[in-house]
Amino acid sequence: MSIPNGTALITGASTGLGALYADRLARRGHDLILVARNGAQMEELAAKLRVTTGVQVDVIAADLTRSDDVTRIEQRLIDDANIALFVNNAGMSLNGGTLENSAAEIERIIALNITAAARLAIAAGKAFGARGKGAIVNIASVLALAPEMFEGVYSGSKAFLLNLSHALAANGREQGFHVQAVLPGATRTEIWERSGKDIDAFPAEMVMTADDLVDAALLGLDRGEEVTIPPLADDGQWTNYHAARLAMAPNLSRREVADRYRVGVAA
Ligand code: NAP
Repeated sequence: MSIPNGTALITGASTGLGALYADRLARRGHDLILVARNGAQMEELAAKLRVTTGVQVDVIAADLTRSDDVTRIEQRLIDDANIALFVNNAGMSLNGGTLENSAAEIERIIALNITAAARLAIAAGKAFGARGKGAIVNIASVLALAPEMFEGVYSGSKAFLLNLSHALAANGREQGFHVQAVLPGATRTEIWERSGKDIDAFPAEMVMTADDLVDAALLGLDRGEEVTIPPLADDGQWTNYHAARLAMAPNLSRREVADRYRVGVAA
């Protein structure tokens, strides 16, 4: 699959993976719309990309934990018919473990990683479905598959996004747009420091560079993948896992209680 021509809207484009998507997509000739809170940092990146690549770059400062800011971006996705690629990347992590965060922090991460991510992916899906073309890239995480390895609200938010990607990909196959979920492992960006963690505490062989991650994810998109896991060496592990889940699906809703749950039957 080639990425459709047109403008790319990228959330979380001020730093990290989002800023690298901006760089790579500008070099491929896509005009850009950059979204994050730090407008000055995005203006700096935009100025550099305009000069080095000649593409047009718009900057929208928005706090995606705020409903009215999410509404502005939804509206842009729907109204701007030039947008053909949506990189749903903005996200945050939490300090500490599953039992250590305040109610306010839990609400904040859910607002950004779940509510905003879902609203924007669905707005893009509606717009691309109506236009019969487009691609949505949802930046999830390998923690969607491995909640035991990390704090549970963050990993749960990424499992949510993977689930939503599977559902939207099915809509996309019918309506002519593509959906890719990207599952990075530990990747060297500011997200670690921002959530009070030291990426250097991980063994070096577990940490990917952000450049490698984005280049691999774009290769996966070029190949038409619906799920891209850049660090996973044995692709068969994902294929088997996914096939096992799909094989279970026809058995998951039944009038009859499974035999082992019949009263009087020994477990
Ligand atoms: P990062 O360097 O911290 O970048 C996060 C981006 O999101 C920044 O541009 C930030 O910009 C933006 N952002 C944060 N809060 C926001 C808000 N309230 N409203 C709008 N934008 C906001 O982290 P990253 O590693 O590149 O993260 C990108 C995505 O990759 C995230 O979804 C993350 O969960 C995912 N991921 C990362 C790793 C990893 O190890 N790095 C692994 C798996 C998945 P402002 O501060 O300017 O708003």
